[in-house]
Amino acid sequence: MIQVDDALSIIAENSAKMPVKKIKVGKSLGFVLAEAIYSPIDMPPFRQSAMDGYAFVHSELSRFSVISSSQAGDYSNLKLEKNEAIRIFTGAYVPDDADTVVMQEHTTVTGDKVQIDILPDSFANVRNKGEQIEKGQLVLEKNTIITPAAIGFFACLGITQIKVYSKPKVAILVTGNELVRAGKKLPQGKIYESNSVMLEAALKEIGIKKTIVFRVKDSLKATTKMIESCLDQFDVVLISGGISVGDYDFVKEALLQNGVEELFYKINQKPGKPLFFGKKEKKLVFALPGNPASSLTCFYVYGLPALKKRLGFTDIHLPKMNRKITTAFQNKTGKTLFLKGFYDDDCVTVLESQSSAMLNTFAVANCFVYVPYTIVNVQEKQEIKIIPFN
Ligand code: AMP
Ligand code: MG
Repeated sequence: MIQVDDALSIIAENSAKMPVKKIKVGKSLGFVLAEAIYSPIDMPPFRQSAMDGYAFVHSELSRFSVISSSQAGDYSNLKLEKNEAIRIFTGAYVPDDADTVVMQEHTTVTGDKVQIDILPDSFANVRNKGEQIEKGQLVLEKNTIITPAAIGFFACLGITQIKVYSKPKVAILVTGNELVRAGKKLPQGKIYESNSVMLEAALKEIGIKKTIVFRVKDSLKATTKMIESCLDQFDVVLISGGISVGDYDFVKEALLQNGVEELFYKINQKPGKPLFFGKKEKKLVFALPGNPASSLTCFYVYGLPALKKRLGFTDIHLPKMNRKITTAFQNKTGKTLFLKGFYDDDCVTVLESQSSAMLNTFAVANCFVYVPYTIVNVQEKQEIKIIPFN
């Protein structure tokens, strides 16, 4: 049995980045850049007006003849005399002769004359060529997570394709004779299967949308065969249940028979002690405990960092924050606890039911209260670490 931090280090060391592929910018949301991107153009590509107003040459003059008009998208590069201005609109090409734009709210117009009421500084309201970024400058660094704004930035520079880390194909393998799919009649002795949809949803939160769920009865032969087929086709295999020490828990044996290298089994924590993590070449396997709350806890704490690493994220662990705890409690277990809690701006409350078999409090919790095994007494109002997940 190992400690939580050791398990996290083993995961970080053994989770390899996925291969790099080229994709369309419009499809890249949530992917991680696998290359640094440099700008193919100056942006803006020409001197642009930042206002609706009048472009002119800055001097002591304040009255101008308006000789022409230029809207965004036009290109007219008229010669301007000192006493001439052009009507101009936001985004339009500023003639090479003009150096300043006055906003229309600061002018009075009579016929074809414009009077400047409030003289702007020289060069005001003109966006210079390459002011945002120059041709050849860095757009975004390698390992940046692609956001909607990043997609817009690429698009405004005319970039259509980028290299990213591929997303891992993930299989969810559910074990248990007692499990029935929601929507079907529930015979005596059976329960509804909940881990697969829950894990699928948690995967979607990090942008892994296409997962395939497989189901297998509690039999060593069937489990071994199913794991073999999952390892063939998927980059990450999440197994639910069958990893404890009962007579019908065959997952560990089936994994070893398939040549999966055990990297750890059992963590000194509650819930989720019987977690198995292994790999075969670059393929990762998590055998998560069957109890639903343990399963999701293990997925959040261990599965997510592994997947994030594969996706190319550099910051892979769930962030921790400090909060004052609302009631005192004792940890006599000698284990690290991941308690379901609810936090606000100041405090965190440990929720009442902490059973690993139940999701009733998990469903309303927004964080884990993280109590390392070394902490025995926690006083009311003491600062404690929390791990937000909602
Ligand atoms: P196991 O780890 O297979 O011994 O399962 C531990 C407990 O979790 C048992 O009560 C199972 O019925 C339950 N369980 C296992 N898998 C699931 C699942 N996919 N959905 C809901 N409950 C499950
Ligand atoms: Mg089972």
